[in-house]
Amino acid sequence: MQALMRTILAPAALAALLPLAAIAAAAAPSPGDAAHDTLAHDIFKQLIEIDTSDSTGNVTTAAEALAQRFRAAGFPPGDLALLGPNDRKKNLVVRLHGAGGHKPVLLIGHLDVVEARREDWTTDPYKLIEKDGYYYGRGTIDMKDGDAVMAAALIRLKQQGFRPSRDIIAAFTADEEGGCCNGVSWLLKNHRDLIDAEFVLNQDDWSVMSEHGVPRVARLIATEKLYADYQLIVTNKGGHSSVPRPDNAIYELARGLTRLARFQFPFELNAVNRGYYEQMANEVARGQEAADMHAILRDPPDAQAIARLSRDPDNLSVTRTTCVATRLAGGHANNALPQRAEALVNCRIFPGHSKEEIRQLLVKVINDPQVTVRYVADDGSVSDRATDERAVDPAPLRPDVMQALTALSKSAWPQARVIPFLDPGASDAKYTNAAGLPTYTFGGVAVDRDEVRAHGRDERVAVAEFYKWNRFFYRYLSELTAH
Ligand SMILES: [Zn+2]
Repeated sequence: MQALMRTILAPAALAALLPLAAIAAAAAPSPGDAAHDTLAHDIFKQLIEIDTSDSTGNVTTAAEALAQRFRAAGFPPGDLALLGPNDRKKNLVVRLHGAGGHKPVLLIGHLDVVEARREDWTTDPYKLIEKDGYYYGRGTIDMKDGDAVMAAALIRLKQQGFRPSRDIIAAFTADEEGGCCNGVSWLLKNHRDLIDAEFVLNQDDWSVMSEHGVPRVARLIATEKLYADYQLIVTNKGGHSSVPRPDNAIYELARGLTRLARFQFPFELNAVNRGYYEQMANEVARGQEAADMHAILRDPPDAQAIARLSRDPDNLSVTRTTCVATRLAGGHANNALPQRAEALVNCRIFPGHSKEEIRQLLVKVINDPQVTVRYVADDGSVSDRATDERAVDPAPLRPDVMQALTALSKSAWPQARVIPFLDPGASDAKYTNAAGLPTYTFGGVAVDRDEVRAHGRDERVAVAEFYKWNRFFYRYLSELTAH
């Protein structure tokens, strides 16, 4: 922890920290916990059993069910807003008023889930089934667990008459997983005033990584890479395949892809992945791996250490931009020279670089004027030039968030270290971060690294982890809004 704090936290901010022991004491069980667990379970079950997938489901139904619960718990109608671009994609925004000492905190959680087909699953994906110490169902880990935990915490705080130091706003939203109408983006564009905040807590993660059941790392996602698709295209006049020529759309594309496969984007460190490796090197890693982690932090970084560490895809993905071919198509007949060959290349861009900058770099790497590199927007439209959109550089880590997480984690997962993390993937935090609302993503359930079933079949969360997260989140939120 010390190494990280030295790097990222300003001394003045450190001075404002509360004693960790005070928060740790608050983690002890309290009389309301059992009823709070029951409430979270009931909301969780209700949400799982409403299909909110884009193709067959309806997010509005889930948003309305939550609104009903908030009304029943005493939230006045004026503090609830159910709104969205169409009848199936309504988002729910709830506000718990505080003393107004600071700008609000915004909690975000997406209500939609990835499609799940009954025939692929052992259980009914739209029923909450408890089996062998796990809850099964679509959304049990991504992320109706987080939605239930957010809603239960707000209801408990309301019923206790808790007056936070700042307003707590929660947005339960549509289409994080895909679909027409991303709720966070839509709210920022159309109702910024409703969700404007000093910072954002996003619950869309399973942040506690275990190895063989032992939690090792609790990652706080403080920045994300930027998603971008590119199309590589070669066209050719074609002809009869009995008379081959040296120019061939498929071969030219293949050679370009091979050059891309051999290319590695430059190694990069920012405040977040630097903090991550400092802490990993000092507290988690051992032997050669720890030595390599120390070596990449030197100035200049050690090239051999970078090469060794980068053999692990998890390290590779958090220290540079990556681009990888994900789809391929070409030719139109078995007996014809191909008139067209194309590939889709998916990039995950390191914070600070723009989509167009990466497109131009791809052109250089592929180094063949026959291969055109075009940008594919989220709606599928293709253009010669990419946008200048870039993943924003991370905001400084908030001492209050780090401190509360660290103290509560100590009692929840004593063997795990809280470590800031650069997410190679992307979540709704990309919209809030881009809008200038610094976002910290943490989902307090422990999962074995190779056991994550989000988006997959038989998605599940450990029953004990669900309730641990429930109590954790309530305390986390109370602590962060107490002062
Ligand atoms: Zn998610």
